[in-house]
Amino acid sequence: MTNDTWGRVQNELLQSIGKDAFKNWIEPIDFIGCDGGVARFKVSTGFIGNWVSRNYGDQIMRALASDGDKVDRLDFQISTAAAPASKPAKANATAPVSGQQNNTELPGAPLDGRFTFENFVVGKPNELAHAAARRVAEGGPVTFNPLFLYGGVGLGKTHLMHAIAWQIQERDPQARVLYLSAEQFMYRFVQALRFKDMIGFKELFRSVDILMVDDVQFIAGKDSTQDEFFHTFNALVDQNKQIIISADRAPGEINGLEERIKSRLQCGLVVDLHPTDYELRLGILQSKAEAQVKHYPGVLLSAGVLEFLAHRISTNVRVLEGALIRLYAFASLVGREVTLEMAQECLADILRASDRKVTIDEIIRKVADHYNLRLNDMLSPRRARAVARPRQVAMFLSKALTSKSLPEIGRRFGGRDHTTVIHAVKKIEELKSVDSQIAEDVELLRRMLEA
Ligand code: ADP
Ligand code: MG
Repeated sequence: MTNDTWGRVQNELLQSIGKDAFKNWIEPIDFIGCDGGVARFKVSTGFIGNWVSRNYGDQIMRALASDGDKVDRLDFQISTAAAPASKPAKANATAPVSGQQNNTELPGAPLDGRFTFENFVVGKPNELAHAAARRVAEGGPVTFNPLFLYGGVGLGKTHLMHAIAWQIQERDPQARVLYLSAEQFMYRFVQALRFKDMIGFKELFRSVDILMVDDVQFIAGKDSTQDEFFHTFNALVDQNKQIIISADRAPGEINGLEERIKSRLQCGLVVDLHPTDYELRLGILQSKAEAQVKHYPGVLLSAGVLEFLAHRISTNVRVLEGALIRLYAFASLVGREVTLEMAQECLADILRASDRKVTIDEIIRKVADHYNLRLNDMLSPRRARAVARPRQVAMFLSKALTSKSLPEIGRRFGGRDHTTVIHAVKKIEELKSVDSQIAEDVELLRRMLEA
């Protein structure tokens, strides 16, 4: 087996497990070689090796075998000179940046060097989350604990958490900052149980100065992990250590999470990242385009392309970024300028996928327009029929035309409960069959929104 084979296997894994998991687990392992049916890898910690072998081992062996290499076993050697996590470019010369280098090894996930505050573009939808993250990163007395960041996929939660970690470690290289996903937390916990090392586990987690747990919704429904999380959480809060948590929704909306944890999570500062708006998308595109220019110095960008992308591509920043990267790579390959036509051609799949998506914002706007209401009326607590009915229509359409969950829809309508949404959906369904005006309105709006 050659490095080419490994490259191909990596590609396959990237496709099947997604970019995040790939970055966290596959990228950090170094392929050494293959002999006698054993594929050997170097890893910086035993933890990574265990995880990869447990979760992706079969897949890796299958992928290797499809090249004709017979591999029965994977072997992970811990490299003594543990590779430090990648560093942000600007911190290169200064300090050891990774908490993993402190005396006791912290079992965190590597930090992404690009996820710094410098690279984070601030706009209305994320300004609060950004300000809160900055405040925590500045250190000083712990004012809110935990900081709870939530929002949809690709809106910058992980980016902000890494940015906090980078800044804290830059200022104080000795600070024990532990960043990990809830999934990794669970894995550590399960390992500790299995190897009867709960004391080590507890000591480790209680010895950090700052704990960051990403995507905490993952532990919903996993009772003993939640239990341990709760104790870790309390122990750190008692010691006045900062905790930063992220999730894809508000604490109260995470089903399968114990009440005591929900209320604990709500004790600090809860801020959400709203879906990006046009201005923020444009800002992000401009900043990312500047970065691309460094990669592809020769490639020119026609006027209007970024505006086009900001208009047409969904709110997920990851998708936006991917589109831009693809455009630049393509333009450099064919030696042409990035033009509107090229964007339309080269991004047809992404544009098509974004096209079909109707957003709750659009629905609210269209419905408000249709009934001659102000946007605020749609979100306000007012119950007068004249606003309540259109609001129910909008909720009904949100359920019908988007893939958002009931709690998410409720939240977007001025922080209402999901039961209110259920009620609205039922009500409109009923009315449609008896009230032809409502039925007509709904159909008309649906057609306009889907057009
Ligand atoms: P989440 O964790 O919320 O799913 P990420 O933090 O992984 O999202 O962000 C997805 C991608 O979008 C990352 O590459 C990140 O750098 C980028 N991104 C998100 N928001 C911004 C922003 N405001 N400015 C610059 N890049 C951003
Ligand atoms: Mg994330």
